[in-house]
Amino acid sequence: MASSKSKDAANSGPQDTNSDTNDEENPELSPGFRDADAFVKYGLGAVLSATKASAGLPQVGDEYDFYRSFPGFQEFCESQGDKLLHGMSQIMQHHGCRSHVRDRNKLTGLEERFDLVVDSNDIILERVGILLDEADGVNRSQQPVMPAGFQPPQIVVSSWNRKGSGSGSRSEMFRLLHAKNVARPQLKFKEKVDNTNTPFIPKIFIKPNAIKPLPSYFTNKQIRKERPEDLDVPAALADFIHQQRTQEHVEDMFAHPYQYELDHLKVSEILLSKPEPQMYKPMAETKFSYVDTLEDLVALNEKLCKMSEFAVDLEHHSYRSFLGLTSLMQISTREEDFIIDTLELRSEMYILNEAFTDPAIVKVFHGADSDIEWLQRDFGLYVVNLFDTHQASRALNLARHSLDHLLKHFCSVDSDKRYQLADWRIRPLPDEMVQYARTDTHYLLYIYDCMRAQLLDLNHKQPGLLQCVWNKSKDISLKKYAKPIYTEESYLELQRKQKKAFNTQQLAAFRLLFAWRDKLARQEDESTGYVLPTHMMNKISEELPKEPQGIIACCNPVPPLVRQQVNELHLLVQQAREMPLLKAEIAAQKKKGLTPIKKAEVALFGPHDTSRASESDLLPFPPSELPVKQGTLFSDNEHKMDADVQKINGLMAPAKITLFEEAEKQNDQECLPVAQMKAKRIIESFENPFRMYLPSSDVHISKNAKFDPSSKIFEISKRWKLQSIEQQQKELETKKKTKEAKEQIKKVSEERNKTKQSYQESLKNVATVRQQAAESAKGGGKKRERVASEVGESTPKPSKKLMKSAETPQKTEPPPQDTFKPFDYSQSDLKVFAGAKSKDNTQFDPNRQAHDFSKKKSARGQKSNFAAGNRSMSYLAGKSDRGFRHNWPKR
Ligand code: AMP
Ligand code: MN
Ligand code: ZN
Repeated sequence: MASSKSKDAANSGPQDTNSDTNDEENPELSPGFRDADAFVKYGLGAVLSATKASAGLPQVGDEYDFYRSFPGFQEFCESQGDKLLHGMSQIMQHHGCRSHVRDRNKLTGLEERFDLVVDSNDIILERVGILLDEADGVNRSQQPVMPAGFQPPQIVVSSWNRKGSGSGSRSEMFRLLHAKNVARPQLKFKEKVDNTNTPFIPKIFIKPNAIKPLPSYFTNKQIRKERPEDLDVPAALADFIHQQRTQEHVEDMFAHPYQYELDHLKVSEILLSKPEPQMYKPMAETKFSYVDTLEDLVALNEKLCKMSEFAVDLEHHSYRSFLGLTSLMQISTREEDFIIDTLELRSEMYILNEAFTDPAIVKVFHGADSDIEWLQRDFGLYVVNLFDTHQASRALNLARHSLDHLLKHFCSVDSDKRYQLADWRIRPLPDEMVQYARTDTHYLLYIYDCMRAQLLDLNHKQPGLLQCVWNKSKDISLKKYAKPIYTEESYLELQRKQKKAFNTQQLAAFRLLFAWRDKLARQEDESTGYVLPTHMMNKISEELPKEPQGIIACCNPVPPLVRQQVNELHLLVQQAREMPLLKAEIAAQKKKGLTPIKKAEVALFGPHDTSRASESDLLPFPPSELPVKQGTLFSDNEHKMDADVQKINGLMAPAKITLFEEAEKQNDQECLPVAQMKAKRIIESFENPFRMYLPSSDVHISKNAKFDPSSKIFEISKRWKLQSIEQQQKELETKKKTKEAKEQIKKVSEERNKTKQSYQESLKNVATVRQQAAESAKGGGKKRERVASEVGESTPKPSKKLMKSAETPQKTEPPPQDTFKPFDYSQSDLKVFAGAKSKDNTQFDPNRQAHDFSKKKSARGQKSNFAAGNRSMSYLAGKSDRGFRHNWPKR
């Protein structure tokens, strides 16, 4: 921007305020500036005065020509212009852009020169964005990276992808490329990705090597697939019944399926005694297989089951997917290397559980923390008897704990980690990526041997240290995958990391953008970083652009979805601008105020599950209930789900911004610092101007409005009046329904007892997988049976359901909002998105708000450039179709 302004100035004539443009782009802070802030302040001031000065210059066409007839003026113009062009050209060169702005011969017109400047601006701003991302601690790996040698067709290579001249940095090995041409693997998935804002439920339905059988919830498809709308009772009651039934399974649903087996895992004596390291075979002499068919996978599983150990690694892609995709699995035995195309075999991978959960087989990983979660998330795979060489490296206190280091240290192999961040979705996999991937596991068993020996040596032949590594490894295999859950608090967590003091409007914008981004990312199955990188979100929030164009200007390069929905975004920014302007002490202190309020019926399906919410609830922040503080419950580092499920029942979080909150928590004040007290008093002195619009159920103000002033403002400005009436009507309705529901509770408890009984019976009947596998080996096999039944059921059922959903009037009724906690089931979305028209039901549909907007702003057309195939598959929960054309592997 700065340089394009200078450019304008240059074109219109002389000016001498360009001297700071150099500083602007200089990565090194000039002396005399305390810090970056001081520098930026100075820079902005200078740019501002430059702009002012240029605007004051005689305009082309009038006085300018006159002035220019004076040789002195002309000369001055010439020299100043040259100076300016020189400066610009230097900046461009510095950034590796085309820079012959000054060369009058090479460029014919002003236009071309202007394009050059615009291009350079883009490149520079793109860089700035990346650096800001880095500074923000955003993982750069989110950008797709491909190996230098790999050239996919028609790749857009920006000039900044070229090696930085003379920078000599190691990063020149990396090439950041737009992975535009990689087909979305998600489109081929048999079981569609579940991005709903609901907790993750294990994907397991058969449990090999079980000591404790798999709970009926997982084995009984009936229970798993049952949804409230399948019950032939009014919606509110159906929800209630369903909630009750689900409650029974909650513990099972969120437990680690192999908890028991892992708890009872004993490390065998042999594994605690000193091994003779078995040298790896040279890679060139090692048989390599690329596994991308079910037959090969089954054969591999057979082979693995006969091993006493094998090494495993995964490659992962996270940029063009909301949850991430495990894209490759590498397995090495002492004799062979395998690479499994896990994008192709995603729904079949679970058969490896037989080897992966066999306690007699050691699985060696390096740094398995993520792998364990990815295995669960994508394949329902678990690991029993893990050895993590990263943990061993720590125990040995090696200089570094990376795999490269271990490879160097134990095998004198120089690994080429630059492929680590490659776009692992690429198919066919280029040779160099295959090579790289193999290296990740090929040497691992030898390293495992060496490390065990060293761990014993280090500890005077005592197994304590080695045992410790086994234990740590076991802890890792006990990790549970938790889906990112969006809560009303989520944006604050991120905002706090930005360390920027936002005022109320900026904070509101940040919150709305955050919600928009999350919603869209889930819907389109893209990472949030792809939808709208955090630094751009910051910039938009900071600047609160008045025009849609201003939003575009905050983003460089403009993310496709931002471009597409710029009108929606603009509405959000406008909405934020309507907030009363206050300096917001980020609600940090408010966080403390987590107060136990009431026990939610099924906390797991908290208010943020908007699956059953009506359209009005799909405002970015439903003004309905207090948020359950779910963020920590389901966050990555939280694994004690069971305990927390209970805790969370009582945890409700209050609002963050309390502009119109009536002074009800006086006692809070005692612990507030002076400044905050002051602020609080000022805030309290505000009379809520919208009080008259609020439903009078509460003594002071509506509890809805109280907790989210911004949404209140929004509603008032848009449709509050209408809604509050609607709301009251709904409340009335809901009350009625609750009454009905209560009357039928007796029926429910009967139902429950039945389910309990059937559950207990089914427990008795559950065979261990060994048994199941044995049975399957006998002929036909349980799997096939299962498939047969699935297929048999699946064909008539959906059509029946479709009809039902189309016919049943209760489905289109707005669901009651207050009396029940909306809940959701990751698999429950079949008919809603399977082409049925009952879009307005049950499932969290982040799209809905967007549709609202698009209706209003007639922005529909913009959506049209979503190719159907490009659309997210997220909610097509579809048939799991684990369909086998094959038997369960024979043993
Ligand atoms: P690795 O275990 O080193 O093969 O890494 C497995 C996957 O983790 C890679 O495919 C990447 O998706 C991801 N990954 C590894 N290292 C990084 C990193 N430094 N930053 C971000 N992602 C990484
Ligand atoms: Mn790994
Ligand atoms: Zn790897």
